[in-house]
Amino acid sequence: MKAKILALLRSSEGYISGQELCERFGVSRTAVWKVMNQLKEEGYEIEAVQNKGYRLVHTPDVLSESELKSRMRTGWAGRNVHFLKETGSTNADAVRFLEEGEAHGTLVVADRQTAGRGRRGRSWESPSGASVYMTLALKPEFGPGQASMLTLVMALAVSEAISSVCGLKAGIKWPNDIVVNRKKVCGILTEMNMEADYIRSVVIGVGINVNQKVFPEEIRDTATSLSIEKGEEISRAELIASVMAHFERHYEQFVQDQNLSGIKQAYEEGLVNRNRKVRVLDPKGEYEGIAEGITDTGELMVRMDDGSIAEVYAGEVSVRGYYGYV
Ligand code: ATP
Repeated sequence: MKAKILALLRSSEGYISGQELCERFGVSRTAVWKVMNQLKEEGYEIEAVQNKGYRLVHTPDVLSESELKSRMRTGWAGRNVHFLKETGSTNADAVRFLEEGEAHGTLVVADRQTAGRGRRGRSWESPSGASVYMTLALKPEFGPGQASMLTLVMALAVSEAISSVCGLKAGIKWPNDIVVNRKKVCGILTEMNMEADYIRSVVIGVGINVNQKVFPEEIRDTATSLSIEKGEEISRAELIASVMAHFERHYEQFVQDQNLSGIKQAYEEGLVNRNRKVRVLDPKGEYEGIAEGITDTGELMVRMDDGSIAEVYAGEVSVRGYYGYV
């Protein structure tokens, strides 16, 4: 009920009377009053005027289960949501929830991670109160070959959500990073659990620097946050709901096509290194070329000096701009 009352307060222009809320939810005045008090304690500014009712004046950047549920507008992605104040890694939690029988599309959101991970055993800086750490848990019906492409589906969804919620131009640094003004604001880590030759689960972890103000020395030059770039605080819950909406749409297209062909054009439009010189940091040897786009299965197409095209598989490599991170 709390999430529904919140959604109603948010969507109405003026006041909503206590009577109307009681009738809609079939509860007493005292029950409504209790919910309002809980919301105020969580930081919502709610005005209560006699004979008029309640009005939501200001929503701070609250992250809670009710706030998330009140904003979610998808069919299945993120509809079942768990909010944790603190956890080791949301990817690990998501695997556990699926093992316990929770639905495809379950979302785990944490306010803080103590063991946030990046690709190849790297760590993801995850302080509390300011950023988004979330994992979407999926039980896909396609084969293991397709799972890695989901990183690109999510990257597109995050870049679009950032643009629509914050009005910032967000670019994609293939395959899994989102950059704003050439600095990293988001990383994505997809992990797959297999049994024989079918997928038990795929979890897509997303870390987005939202209202973070400072970064540790090691990443200060390459990392930024949405609020630093925008100059104002951003609602994490709204951003999460928007990512889910964009992801759900693209995922359905992806499942229908069984590859990225349907979203390739949109992904390539967001590609920051497109038609620019890049360095491919391959453990078997670094090389350079011009990034031209992606294949239908998500490899980066790099044109080499001799005119041939190298198809770079994401697994083991990182890509850098010729003059720096992007
Ligand atoms: P790269 O960004 O170097 O191309 P990658 O895509 O393999 O590599 P990820 O797995 O996405 O990297 O993220 C891990 C790396 O991101 C860490 O090694 C660190 O350099 C950087 N990093 C860690 N935390 C953050 C953060 N909160 N914001 C931006 N960058 C971070």
